This record gives sequence, structure tokens and C-alpha cells, in this order.
Amino acid sequence: MEYLNEGIVLGLDLLILGLCYKEYCSYKQTLKALKGAPQLPLDDSLKSYVQQQKDQKVPYAVIRGTVSPIGAPIKSVLSPTVTGVLQIMKLNEHRVARGFAGLWTEQKKLVHFSTNEVPFMITNGEHGVEVTEALSSAVLDLDVVYDNYEPSSLKLFDHLFGFFSGVRQKGFQTTEEILRDGSFITAVGEIELDAGNLRLQPSSIGPMFLTTATKGALIKKFEEAKSSMMVKMFISGAITALIIGIIGRRYFIRKKAERNERRLKETLEKARRERRAKTRPKANLMEEQLCVVCVTNPKEVICLPCGHVCLCEDCSEKIKIACPVCRTTIESKAAAFIS
Ligand SMILES: [Zn+2]
Ligand SMILES: [Zn+2]
Repeated sequence: MEYLNEGIVLGLDLLILGLCYKEYCSYKQTLKALKGAPQLPLDDSLKSYVQQQKDQKVPYAVIRGTVSPIGAPIKSVLSPTVTGVLQIMKLNEHRVARGFAGLWTEQKKLVHFSTNEVPFMITNGEHGVEVTEALSSAVLDLDVVYDNYEPSSLKLFDHLFGFFSGVRQKGFQTTEEILRDGSFITAVGEIELDAGNLRLQPSSIGPMFLTTATKGALIKKFEEAKSSMMVKMFISGAITALIIGIIGRRYFIRKKAERNERRLKETLEKARRERRAKTRPKANLMEEQLCVVCVTNPKEVICLPCGHVCLCEDCSEKIKIACPVCRTTIESKAAAFIS
């Protein structure tokens, strides 16, 4: 219990350190995969290149091209001039809530989320690669085509209700994001040749990306994220070391104090024993007058409740449980004076 606070802080810090390390490893792995992924030209050489690979698959590769719907594109709901192949609609409720220490904080709560997609390809002229499971991309750069915030008109009742419930609605935000057809993007994933058609899909080597950034920019972004995670890990590690240092220091100080106390007690005890030995009668005692344990010192202590006067003071310190004569449990002891 003594180190409870430090223990909790240490535990939290180790948890943060662990999470940072996990993130760091995932960035590192992604970087390694990205750097090793070949950027393949989207032209007539691609099909034969993929065909030559094992299982007709390139496990992780980068291609760049124009987004083209295979059938009819999706029409934007809220911005009708825009068409695309992938659509995400979000409705967020903004509210203020009374949180920690009675402070009101802004909160955003997703109340509605929907997606819509049509099959699409990444093309360069007549050459194209179909993209599947686009929504599982780790980075998915979409255009925000509609973003509207509607404040709620609160009545007196809502204010009162908000005061007591601790949650007050502020408004709703509607956003629509679309991957426009005709936009030029970078796609990263597994490329497979299946029944004569090329397909890009999630890979087991690294995350899938559909982004406007180039491969180089993507690598740079992950390098930066990796470095910032390393800084966090370093800080967290330093805090861990500091807490361990504090706990260690306190432990050693306590141990030292205990050791000193024990030594002092021993010295005092020794002095007391010597003093006692001097005051003991020098005369030769009869055996029945001697302590039954050491048979050297005179009997000096009475065990209660049995009443046996059988121990010297030195031995009575070691014998605490049962009377050595009758085995009765010792409840207390007292000095006995035999005159
Ligand atoms: Zn004794
Ligand atoms: Zn007894």
C-alpha cells in the first residue's frame, strides 16, 4: 500500500509506453512495406508483369491513375453537380457536457454514418485496375463536398433540462465526402490478375491506401509519425525510469532506517543483559532455582495463567507461546521475586 500512488502512475506510464511502442512498430512495419513496394507503371506491361509473379500476384505495390467508375457513378446527395465512386455521409451531434470537476466541454457524437460505393477502376488510358474493398483503406482521401452546421434552437425547457442532465445540445453537422470520378490518386495494395482482369485489394503485407499523396509523400508522413512516436516513447520511458528511481530510493532509505533501528535495539539489549547479569546473585544456586531453559540464570519470570515460575528474563524473550513446564498457552508474563 505504501507505494500505491507510485505503482498506479508507473502502471499507467508503462501502459502508455506499451501503446506507443505498438504504434511505433506498426509505423515501422508500414514504412518497411511501403519502401519495398514497387511503383508499377499503369500500361500494357503491367498485366504481363503480374502474370509472371508467383500466384499471379504482386503482394504489395503502388499504382497511380485516374478514378473511373465501371458502371454509373454515384451522384452526390447534397451537392448534385458532383459525381463519384465512393461516398461517406456523416451526421455529428455537437453538444456541451458537464464533465470532470463540473467543467462544460465541447463534445462531438457521431449519430449517423453511411457509405455507398460503386465498382471502380484506376485507369491510365485504356489500361485499368479494379479496386475492391476500398473502404478498408488505412488512408482514404475523399473530397468534402458538403459540410453544414445547423445550430439547435433551444427553448427554456431544453436549457433547464440541460442544466440538470449535464448535456446540452448545440447543433448538428452534416458532412458528405466523395471520391470523385476523374480524380488522380495513388493506390497501394495487393495486385492480382484474376480471369484476365487486374485487381487491387487489401494486402497482408501492409495497409491499403487510396490517397492523393505520392508514394514519397506517404513515406515522409509515416517517417514523421514514427519519429514523433519515438519522442513520446522516450518521454514516457524517462518518466518510467524516474518513478522507478523514486521508489527505489525510498525503499533503500527505509531499509537503511530499519537496519539502524535494529542495530540500536541490539546494542541496547546487550547492555541491558550485561547490567542484569551484574545484579544477579553471585551465590551458587540450587538447580531448582535455575531457569529450566538455560539452566544458568536464576528464575525471574512467572508465566500466566499457569503460574509457573520457570524462566529467566533472557529466555522469556524467546519463549512466547507455551509454558515450558506445562505447555499452557502463555497469556502474559510478570516479574517474579523470590526472596
Ligand atoms: Zn534462562
Ligand atoms: Zn506452566
